[in-house]
Amino acid sequence: MIEDVDSDVFVRIRTDLLVVGDSIMTDRHHASNGNYEDTNPQNQIGGIIPAFSLSGWLRHGMEKAIQKRGGTACHPGEPNANFRKDGVYNRDLEGGYHPKGECLDDDNGCVIFDLFGGFENRPGKVMRRPIKFSPVRSSVDYTRGQAEGHYRRLNRNVVSRNKQDNREPLRNTELDAVANLDGSWHLSFRETKPEFVALLAAAINFLDDHQTDFMHQLGGARNFGGGIVDCELVNPLYEDHELRRVFDRGKDSTSKMDEKDDKWENEYLPEFQAALTERVEEE
Ligand SMILES: [Zn+2]
Repeated sequence: MIEDVDSDVFVRIRTDLLVVGDSIMTDRHHASNGNYEDTNPQNQIGGIIPAFSLSGWLRHGMEKAIQKRGGTACHPGEPNANFRKDGVYNRDLEGGYHPKGECLDDDNGCVIFDLFGGFENRPGKVMRRPIKFSPVRSSVDYTRGQAEGHYRRLNRNVVSRNKQDNREPLRNTELDAVANLDGSWHLSFRETKPEFVALLAAAINFLDDHQTDFMHQLGGARNFGGGIVDCELVNPLYEDHELRRVFDRGKDSTSKMDEKDDKWENEYLPEFQAALTERVEEE
């Protein structure tokens, strides 16, 4: 069954506002010919959302899914790091984590380690890609992990709170943001295992259910409503034209797609979930 799942899978991501701490790379020079102005609605700026924030967000969802099944997850921090707050690290170890890499006694490590790697130079088995976005929907290729999205630069004036200063601006900060993002995030498994697919599905479900929890929002500006993400795993049984159709607001799913959804829910997923449960119990 696992051989029916392609090594490339896609997660649909929709959010009204995304502010990425690691910043967004833009290609404004192409579109605006050097005449970029923040406020001009004609700006046709696209760019790239780096995978770092997306990866941390997904990993956290996966950790929760493991913990919900009674397992512990690899701590994301280096075990020998000088944690500024030792108490926090120890609390994590009591709350569903084991020190990173401690699980390597059996050959692959725990399922989180297997997926994310990062110790003894072992690469993780899930490759997280950046999302390329464009405001021009017709140029968005969802089968390559792209999204429709509108680049915005937010200006924040930090003003003095001393009464005698009359709200004099102290500094001006600029934030890169993407508004009205809707697209696909492309993940590739270097090796496709049933428990990987089940864990990905469980994590995406969890993140969607907890999208307004501060801990499970994506990127920065969370106190201001940024990073609330609707997400769903696009049925891995879909072919490219069906994947494209998911994003086509003018078209419903075909009966073939509905059939595949039934198959996925009732045949594939339960088998993969059983593999995940078994592996977490072993660990
Ligand atoms: Zn581990």
